[in-house]
Amino acid sequence: MTTTSYLWTPPPVRSLPVRGRTERAPINRLFFVGRNYHAHAVEMGKPVDKASAKLFYFTKAPQTLVESGATVAYPPQTANFHHEMELVVVIGVPGFNVPVEDADKLIYGYACGLDMTRRDLQLVARDQGRPWDLGKDVEDSSVVSEIVPMPGVVLERGALALTVNGQPRQQSDVAMLIWNIREVIADLSRFYHLQTGDLIFTGTPEGVGPVIAGDRIDGHIDGVGEIRLHIGAAE
Ligand code: MN
Repeated sequence: MTTTSYLWTPPPVRSLPVRGRTERAPINRLFFVGRNYHAHAVEMGKPVDKASAKLFYFTKAPQTLVESGATVAYPPQTANFHHEMELVVVIGVPGFNVPVEDADKLIYGYACGLDMTRRDLQLVARDQGRPWDLGKDVEDSSVVSEIVPMPGVVLERGALALTVNGQPRQQSDVAMLIWNIREVIADLSRFYHLQTGDLIFTGTPEGVGPVIAGDRIDGHIDGVGEIRLHIGAAE
């Protein structure tokens, strides 16, 4: 038997807890849908007409994954660090070019997610036609709760809310998604061979806004669960 030897210690496998299981779910890629709630698209100054618009995505490195309950440092190079509360779909069965009517077969379950964003850098990049990476692919910015197994279940509704220090900031419902869960999975599978352990953040509703060091974020989605994040001091 040959054992591979490495120059330095390989990075750990990223994983999340799963409700009712002792095993953790290893996480593969992190996909994010942009502008998937009308009122959020409007607050960002980019309303969506589904008849002519197409779904679009960005990705974050799996190394940005953080588990609910953590404290993360206020990130560098921003003065406008925003919360985005989102429903996360967990892929449990591989698929490529999946028809909308078969998209449910890829679903392992769901989780609550926070797509934390350096909004000032994202908007500069957006308005200058540059990549969003510095605004979105932020260290410790992909926060996810425990995964709730619901194989093949398509969530069509569920109240979603986020508070900062107990004050309501975001309130909507999964039923308000512009592109629903089936449409998102089917469309994304036209561009990527979806794999077990891929996460799809389905977009945030209106009410995004800044947090500062010392803040506590709490979110929940009915039928899925809860998520919490503490913002620590900048390093
Ligand atoms: Mn988002």
